[in-house]
Amino acid sequence: MEPAPANNNAKLVYLWPAQSQDMQEAARQLGYYGYEARLVDTPEQLVDSVATQAPTGILVDATLACEQAPAQKAALTELAQHIPVACMSDQSGIADRLAAVRLGCQAYFTRPLDTTSLLDTLDRLTAPPQAEAGKVLIVDDSPSLAAFYAANLSEAGFVCQVVTDPLKSLEALYDHPPELILLDMNMPGASGQEIAKVIRQQDAYLSIPIVFLSAESDVGRQREAMSHGGDEFLHKPIQPEHLISAVRSRVIRYRSLRALMVRDSLTGLLNHTSYKERLRAEVARAKRQNKLLSVAMIDIDHFKNVNDTYGHPAGDRVIKNLSRLLKQRLRGADVIGRYGGEEFALALPDTPIEVALGVINSLRESFAAIEHHAGNVSFRNTFSAGVAECSPQRPLLMDAEALIKAADEALYVSKHGGRNRVTAAAVG
Ligand code: GH3
Ligand code: MG
Ligand code: MG
Repeated sequence: MEPAPANNNAKLVYLWPAQSQDMQEAARQLGYYGYEARLVDTPEQLVDSVATQAPTGILVDATLACEQAPAQKAALTELAQHIPVACMSDQSGIADRLAAVRLGCQAYFTRPLDTTSLLDTLDRLTAPPQAEAGKVLIVDDSPSLAAFYAANLSEAGFVCQVVTDPLKSLEALYDHPPELILLDMNMPGASGQEIAKVIRQQDAYLSIPIVFLSAESDVGRQREAMSHGGDEFLHKPIQPEHLISAVRSRVIRYRSLRALMVRDSLTGLLNHTSYKERLRAEVARAKRQNKLLSVAMIDIDHFKNVNDTYGHPAGDRVIKNLSRLLKQRLRGADVIGRYGGEEFALALPDTPIEVALGVINSLRESFAAIEHHAGNVSFRNTFSAGVAECSPQRPLLMDAEALIKAADEALYVSKHGGRNRVTAAAVG
């Protein structure tokens, strides 16, 4: 039987049997991370549920599964061909693992269930199969040429933003950061070379690929243009295949470079420098669009104790669990950074502080309920936070540094007030 199509938004997991306390606890833990966990009573109910709504994954009790009658076992094996099935067991020997493999289980967890490992597995299984489309900014004063490039690139799967006034190119860059800029050389108002210089004068855009497009055939002038921060020079008129391959290879290279430079290796979150860059861009955007923006600083409580009691690797897992919680629960537009060791920084665009306080508080409650594992013991932890708002009513707080400072001071108040709490920055 074919499973029902998966719902793209819900990260649905079925757990069987519902009677098991371990499964109930696993369902609770998955819930904190934004998964929808549904407990089912019998193999028949599991099969019916999958037919009604296909989940991301299934977690079953290994021993119970292996004890089923042949018909039920066959039904489980059939399910496992369409949906990833993981199992939980008290046993760690080869015979039990082999039995689970024969049932079609893709992952095997021993009790007590380490939720982090389960989540790692689920995340891997739910990872989007295709990379996101490349984003290209096209700056050309000729609307017809710009539209022609955009049409070619869109057909090849790129998402294009077109600007025909070079003086509008910075705004476009801030609002929808591209992964490559296609820049015409000769434009009224400002030349491509000049725009490239302006772009390169901002640290955040030092490495973004710039490809010049021009009818220029003088090699000396081409070289001159390249010396101002261009990566490639494409000669007009250009063949669509040539344009596409030049753009594609540069976007791919840019992505791998960015991944190394911008992301923290333990959590995959923005690192300190990149967070600040993004925050500056968000503050600029909030100002320009006259919108609110909230900034939060989060610091794990008594984290030194975690390392001292359970060891550094267990501490690392707590950091990973919190980063996962933030990634899963916040919106795509929110900016999340690992600001320091056990300190995280958020920027929530278009969010008044009252809303931000609610969001952070709910994250705080979830985090406090999450179980972390170190060997056979599990433990819980808390965090403290401070939140500040960037608003036109408080011009002094319309600056990235000032916002971070205000949120940090509020965090300090949370720590001194007893930890495991969220404080709003004092309105000065
Ligand atoms: P407080 O509630 O006041 O924040 O206390 P705390 O113990 O969390 O704060 P403190 O700043 O004294 O200690 C933070 C500890 O975090 C010290 C450092 O060894 C540890 N730490 C920093 N980065 C990492 C990391 O990447 N992994 C692990 N396991 N520990 C880290
Ligand atoms: Mg701390
Ligand atoms: Mg700290």
